[in-house]
Amino acid sequence: MIYLDNNATTRPSTEARDAMLSAMDELWHNPSSIYRAGQAAKRAVELGRASIARLINGQPKEIVFCGCGTCSIHTAMAGVIATHKHITKPNIISTHIEHPAVRAMAQQVHDRFDIETRWLKTNPGGRIDPSSLADQIDENTILVSAQWANNETGVIHPIAELGKICRDKGVTFHVDGVQWVGKMPTNVRSGDLESIGLAHDEDEGQYIDMLSFSAHKFHGPKGIGALWIRRGTPFAPSSPGAQELGRRGGTENVPGILGMAAAAEGAIAFLEDGSKMQEMREHRDRFERRVLELVPEAVVNAPPDPDQRVWNTSNIGFPGLESELLLLMLSERGVCASAGSACSSGSLEPSPVLLAMGVEPRVAHGSLRFSICRDTDPGCLEEAAQTVAACVHQLSGNLPV
Ligand code: PLP
Repeated sequence: MIYLDNNATTRPSTEARDAMLSAMDELWHNPSSIYRAGQAAKRAVELGRASIARLINGQPKEIVFCGCGTCSIHTAMAGVIATHKHITKPNIISTHIEHPAVRAMAQQVHDRFDIETRWLKTNPGGRIDPSSLADQIDENTILVSAQWANNETGVIHPIAELGKICRDKGVTFHVDGVQWVGKMPTNVRSGDLESIGLAHDEDEGQYIDMLSFSAHKFHGPKGIGALWIRRGTPFAPSSPGAQELGRRGGTENVPGILGMAAAAEGAIAFLEDGSKMQEMREHRDRFERRVLELVPEAVVNAPPDPDQRVWNTSNIGFPGLESELLLLMLSERGVCASAGSACSSGSLEPSPVLLAMGVEPRVAHGSLRFSICRDTDPGCLEEAAQTVAACVHQLSGNLPV
C-alpha cells in the first residue's frame, strides 16, 4: 500500500509508539494523584510539555493539551469569545478556506450567540489577502482566526502580515497551525531564550497569540493536540477544571501526550537540517511533473510562487472526473490519497477551498490531494504516478499514450 493521504503518511514514529507503550505499561497512574506513581506520570507529562514547547519556541506553561487539532481550535475560539461578554454586537474575522473545524465553530457562535463572522478574501493563488483586514476590524472585533497552511493545497498564508495588523489593532490572533507545526520551522518567540533549541530565523510566529496544532500531522498519535496561548492573552476556559493550569479540565491523556512529545523531538531533529525539507520538496515536485507528463490535461492547484507551498502537499485536478470514484479506484490499486479534508469526505460538493482559489468547478470536482512525509520513499512516488495515470485513463475512457 502506498500512503499519500495526510492522515496516513505521518504514521506514528517508532519513538512515539514506544513512548505510548511505556506510558501504558509504567506511567498509567493519574498525574493528579499525590502518591509517587502519580507524580511520576505528572513529571513525564511536564517533560513532554517542554519538548512540545520547544518545537514552536514557546514556553512550556503556555501549552494546553487538547483532544486533537479540532478541539484545540474550538478551545481557542470559545476561550476568547467568552472573555468578551460586555460587547453588544461582537464579530470575528476568518476565511472561507479554513478547515471545517474553524468554519463550523464560526457558524455555531453565530447561531448560538449571534456573533457575526466577517470573511477575508483569498487571491487567485489561494492565499489570504491581508489588505482588507485593517478595514474589517472595528471596535467590536474580538478575534481573527486564520490558518498557517492550507490542508488541501499546502498554500502558506501571510501570517506575519495578518498578525501585525491584529497586534496594531489590539485584536487576538489565533492561528490554525495543524498543517504547519512539525513540518515547517515554527517560532512564536515566547520561549525562554536559554531553553530554545532551534535557531529559527523566521519571524512570522511572533505576532501570533494562540496556535493550534495536532500530533498526528508530525508522526505522533491521533487524538491528541495542543493549544499554545501566549502569556497575557484573554482566555476563559470552555472546559473548566484544575488541570492544565485551569485552562482545560480533565484527566490528561498521558500516552497521547508522551507520544506527541516523542514525535515533537523527531520533528525537531528533522527541522534542524533544512536540506531535508528541500529534498522532500524535490520529490514532491518530481511526482507532480511525472503525473503531468503521463496525464497532460491534469492541473496542479498551487500558488504561482513555489515558496508559498508546504513541501509535503500536492493537489492535482483531473478535469471532468469525479474525485471520489478516482479515490476508490486508486485504493483498489494500492494508493491511498484524499480529496478535500477528511471531515468532508463523502461530500459531493467540490472543495470550497479550490473554488475560493478560482479553480474551475470541473477541475475542482476531479481534484485529489497527495501528501508525502519526511520518510516517503521516492520510488513509491513513481509507482503512484503511474497508478494515478492508469486510473485516470481508464475512468476517462482514454488509452494511455
Ligand atoms: N486544521 C487543519 C488545517 C487540518 O488539516 C486539520 C486536520 O486535518 C484540523 C484542523 C483538525 O485536526 P484534528 O484532525 O487533529 O482534529
